[in-house]
Amino acid sequence: MLFKDIPGLGEVKQRLIGAIRQGQVAHAQLFAGREGGAALPMALAYATYLNCEDKQADDACGVCYSCVKFNKLIHPDFHHIFPVATTKKVSANPLSEHFLPEWRNFVKQTPFASLSDWLNLIGTENKQANISAEESRQVIGKLSLKAFEAEYKIMLLWLPEVMHVAAANALLKILEEPPAKTLFLLVSNQPDKVLTTIRSRTQLVQIRQFTEEEIAQALTSEHRVEPRRAGQIAHLSDGSLYEALNLNSEAKDDHHEMFRQWMNQCAMRKYADLIEGSERFSKLSRDAQKNLLHYGLCMVREALVWSGQAQMLVRLEGEELVFVERFAKIMSPEKAEWLYILLNDASYHLERNANPKIVFLDISLTIAAGIRN
Ligand SMILES: [Zn+2]
Repeated sequence: MLFKDIPGLGEVKQRLIGAIRQGQVAHAQLFAGREGGAALPMALAYATYLNCEDKQADDACGVCYSCVKFNKLIHPDFHHIFPVATTKKVSANPLSEHFLPEWRNFVKQTPFASLSDWLNLIGTENKQANISAEESRQVIGKLSLKAFEAEYKIMLLWLPEVMHVAAANALLKILEEPPAKTLFLLVSNQPDKVLTTIRSRTQLVQIRQFTEEEIAQALTSEHRVEPRRAGQIAHLSDGSLYEALNLNSEAKDDHHEMFRQWMNQCAMRKYADLIEGSERFSKLSRDAQKNLLHYGLCMVREALVWSGQAQMLVRLEGEELVFVERFAKIMSPEKAEWLYILLNDASYHLERNANPKIVFLDISLTIAAGIRN
């Protein structure tokens, strides 16, 4: 990952590069940013830049030996720890090293994705993922070796917020006094949930959300979305590039048509249609199911903005706009919150492998019973 692979965030990149150029490299840093944002890619680009053999003013060279190996995440001095759980493949004592091929793929294909996407990818079958104490002991073992080839030995730790307390305790000493030329880059989506003992030993590197303009720009230049559509997606994605890419990759109008029809059937209490619809939704891919619910969340939010007299903030057009106007008419703030929680819960259950037919039928009946009250 190079800085140029991350859209926008120019001032953040300059700040990171500037610090390295001035020799201000803290030995333990906490890259913090919301899900769907650039915290992980930024830490990867930072690590690549640090060890690049031919640093440019605004990025790593991308072609030297170190850059090539960092880019493939196969550099012997670049270690990775991330949440894991038991799976079909690893049925006991899972460690990051058991999942390195999957991790490399994940980071390469979807660097802006979330923990639940990662757990879906490795197929954790519903179990709580964490970073174990055994993992911490291995970290200490790996870091006590001398660097093989690089200037800095780097330990990237993704999502310290899910670290087991025993794992955190095992790491405290080495975090405070790491071996020479050893860096810890912690990457968190919820820094306030990271244990204080860990957080207090790191320097905070705040990675802000993407702006709508940055997301729209990325969509038009990298993904050939036409500008007007890019603006709309950027607006709906709420600062998450991952969300934006998802919204773009699905046949967007299908979402809209599916959600509109669904809500109509709920409002008219067409129970036979709702049962049939749940059947149809349950046959979609898990991603498509989650995206449909997410699209619903966006529509609820837009309807709320519309009814809150902030209509100029709604950037939708055409059918979506017509829908939001009508939707807003039945949407008090309490009703919106109720619907938001329902859609969110359904998404949560799907992520944990609940039966999609039951999830969709359940939420359909609940909405049908409550939406006009
Ligand atoms: Zn290089």
